[in-house]
Amino acid sequence: MTGVEETYKRIEGYEDQIITFQADLTSRVALGPDNGGTGEHEKAAYLKKRLKELGPDHFEEIRAPDMRAKDGYRPNIIALWERHIRTPATWVLCHMDIVPPGDLSLWDGDPYQVRVEEGKIIGRGVEDNQHGIVSSYFALKAIQESGVTFRRPVGLAFVADEETGSEYGLDYLLKNHGELFKNDDLIIVPDGGNEDGTMIEVAEKSMLWIKFTVTGKQCHASTPDKGNNSLYGAARLIVDLEGLKKEFNLEDDIFSPSISTFEPTKFEANVPNINTIPGKDVFYIDCRILPSYQVEDIVESAKNIAKDLAKRLDLSIKVEQVYIYDVNANDFENDVLTYSLLSYPKGMTIDTLTGIINWIPAKEQIGEHEITVNVEDRWRNDTQNFTIEASEILLTSIDVVPEYIILAEKYSNLLSQKFLTVTANYDYGSSKSIALSECNYESSDENIAFADHTGMISATSRGKAVITVSYTENGIKKSDTIDVFVRSLPSGEG
Ligand SMILES: [Zn+2]
Repeated sequence: MTGVEETYKRIEGYEDQIITFQADLTSRVALGPDNGGTGEHEKAAYLKKRLKELGPDHFEEIRAPDMRAKDGYRPNIIALWERHIRTPATWVLCHMDIVPPGDLSLWDGDPYQVRVEEGKIIGRGVEDNQHGIVSSYFALKAIQESGVTFRRPVGLAFVADEETGSEYGLDYLLKNHGELFKNDDLIIVPDGGNEDGTMIEVAEKSMLWIKFTVTGKQCHASTPDKGNNSLYGAARLIVDLEGLKKEFNLEDDIFSPSISTFEPTKFEANVPNINTIPGKDVFYIDCRILPSYQVEDIVESAKNIAKDLAKRLDLSIKVEQVYIYDVNANDFENDVLTYSLLSYPKGMTIDTLTGIINWIPAKEQIGEHEITVNVEDRWRNDTQNFTIEASEILLTSIDVVPEYIILAEKYSNLLSQKFLTVTANYDYGSSKSIALSECNYESSDENIAFADHTGMISATSRGKAVITVSYTENGIKKSDTIDVFVRSLPSGEG
C-alpha cells in the first residue's frame, strides 16, 4: 500500500471520531457580536486542545481586539507543521464563527445538538464551516499516522468573524500578521462550491459600480440653443466609456468570460415629457475586473474619459464609485432580503423587497434628516445610516405647448383642450405636468380670441391674439404664451 492509499484508508476509519468532533464543535456556539453572540472563544479553546494532539511545531492564538466580544478580543488560531522546510507552505483556511439558526420552529431539534440521519450530520455550522475544520484536521492526522512525510510546511488557520465582514478575522491577520502568509503559499479555503464538489474557485473578478451624473441645462425642446442637452452628453459618455475595454484588455482563460467587463446598466428617469430637453441624466456601469487590475485605476480612467467629454460639450460630469452594500453577497442560502426603516421622517416609506425609498417632504420638513435602514435575511440583519437633505424646490418656468394654434372665426377650438399641455419646471431639474384648470389665461385681445378657465380657446374675429398662460405655486408665478391666429374659414391651413 502506498502512503496515499494508507492515508485514505485511515480517513475511512475516523467516522465515529469525525461525528464526535463535529458534535463538540457544534455545541460550542461561535456567534459574533454582530449576530448577538460573544465570539468564538469556546470553539477556539476546544480547537487549541485538539490541535496540540497533532503536535504542531508552531502554534499561536492571535487576538483581534473587539470590545464587544468576551474578554475584549476575537480569537484566531494558527498551527504550523514542518515550518523549517524552506519551500512555500500549504494552508487550509477555515472560519470558526457561524450564522444564527434563525427560526427555531423550522428545526427538527436543537440546532446545536448534532444528529446523524441517513449518513448526514445535521446541526448549525457542521457544513459552514466546520466541515473545513474537521476535514483538514483529520487529513493531517491521517497523513501523520500513515508515516508520510511532508515536503512543504503545512498550516491550519482557523479564523474568527468570517460571517460578518472578517474585520476581526482574516483582515486582522493580514493587516497585523501578514508575514504568516507568503506570496507563493498555496491557500485552500474549503468554504464554497457546488453540491457534487466538482467546482474549484481559484479567484474572483473584482466588482465595481460607477455612477455618472451628467448635468447640462434644461430647456424647451423647441429651443435647444437655450439649454444644453444632458442626454446627448450621457449617450456620448456611454460610447466613450467603451475605451475602458481597450485600456483594460487583458485576458485570462481561468475566468468566464475571459476579459474584464464594463457594462452600462441602470439609467435613471429624467424629464417626464417629450418636449423638454433634459438638464440632468444619471446612469451607472457595472464592471467585473480581472484581479490583475486595480479597481482605483479603472475609476481614475473613467474620470478622465468623463473629464474630456465634459470639456468638449461644456457639461459637468460627476463620477462616483458606488459602494456596494450587500450582506447577501457571500450568502450561500440565497435568502430573500427584506428592508425596513428604523428611523425616518414622517411620510417616508420603503419597499420591503427592493429597498427603494419614497418620500415627498412636507413644507415643514425642509432640512436634514437622519435615516436608518435595516436589511435582514432569515439569519441576520444589518443597518445602514445616511443623511438626506430636503430642500424647497422652486418653480423656475412653465412651458406651454403648442406655441401657436390657428382657429377659424367664431369657432371654439374644442381640440385645444386635448392638445394644450403645460409643464412646470423646477430647480434641480425636475418637472411635472400641470392640469389646464390650475392655470390662469389672459388674452391680449378678447375680441379676437380668449380662453376659459378650463383652457378651452375660442375665436371671435380675424386677427392674432396672444394668450398668456400663468401658473402659481408656493407664491411663485410663471407664465408662457400661445399665439392664436384666427382666419376667416376653417381651411386646411390649421
Ligand atoms: Zn462560510
